[in-house]
Amino acid sequence: SAVVPEKAAPSPVPEPDVKITSRDRVVFPDSGQTKGALADYYAAIAPLMLPFAGRRPISLVRCPQGRAKKCFFQKHDSGAFGDAVHHVPIREKDGGSEDYLYVEDARGILQCVQMGTIEFHGWGARTDDVEAPDRMVFDLDPDEGLDFADVKQAARDIRARLSDIGLVSFAMLSGGKGVHVVVPLTPGHNWEAHKDFARRFAEALSIAEPDRFIATMSKAKRKGKIFIDWLRNQRGSTAVVPYSARARSGAPVAVPIGWNELKKMKDAKPFSIDDAEKLVERATGKTLAGWGAASQKLPDL
Ligand code: ATP
Ligand code: MN
Ligand code: MN
Repeated sequence: SAVVPEKAAPSPVPEPDVKITSRDRVVFPDSGQTKGALADYYAAIAPLMLPFAGRRPISLVRCPQGRAKKCFFQKHDSGAFGDAVHHVPIREKDGGSEDYLYVEDARGILQCVQMGTIEFHGWGARTDDVEAPDRMVFDLDPDEGLDFADVKQAARDIRARLSDIGLVSFAMLSGGKGVHVVVPLTPGHNWEAHKDFARRFAEALSIAEPDRFIATMSKAKRKGKIFIDWLRNQRGSTAVVPYSARARSGAPVAVPIGWNELKKMKDAKPFSIDDAEKLVERATGKTLAGWGAASQKLPDL
């Protein structure tokens, strides 16, 4: 039976032997971190990140001139990545096939960073079967006026509703404004069932509590509410992976968090790329033991 996430690269993890050029280039102008600091962050965090980011089609947010200049979301190879950035062919709607990117080791991550990558976003399926989703994510996007406390409560309520239908879930701070509620799933259903389940779950919440939740993207109707972005769960969609840095002010990172820990959290983005050591240390603790791991099938809803 599939236990998610799968094991990280074999340990001890070798030092990624990737040449990082322009180490002194400032990538985060308002907080000062350089490309070198970003590369060092990813080298340190790679063993924690790979169980979630490895062998999964990924999209990259690349900002070759730093986050204040032009950034772009990249799904396909432009030819210039290194040998540790691999390709997986994925069927397109028109019947053709396109190569998507994936990595499986620290070298792959670092080669992306060398190419100006700040953020890593992953599909909800692994490269061994991209048609069989293995994680669902409810991306909670609060309207501007809302407090972090409202988002935290929403995440906990979603966890409880999921638990009611037998699903274990985990919380991740996105490194932005929101929280992602992550549901690992044993592959065995298709994208249509996956998306349908996510949509109906989000709609049920918005019908039960229309003052708090909304399940449609409409910005106009979002006033004072939390958009439960279930659209991350369709074929081809991505969500930011655990431990990815964000191309935002202060160089925050997306971090797994325990449910009890979340309750006490005052800040939506308590960690930045300066905190690699703290994050590595934290990952060995009790709060994060088993984070993201559950052996459970998508139930009928
Ligand atoms: P926040 O907490 O601030 O909402 P987030 O990572 O959840 O952070 P969203 O704007 O809600 O950010 O985006 C959700 C997901 O949509 C991202 O994690 C990413 O995978 C995907 N995404 C973001 N930008 C693009 C883009 N330009 N093209 C395709 N997908 C994108
Ligand atoms: Mn979001
Ligand atoms: Mn969103």
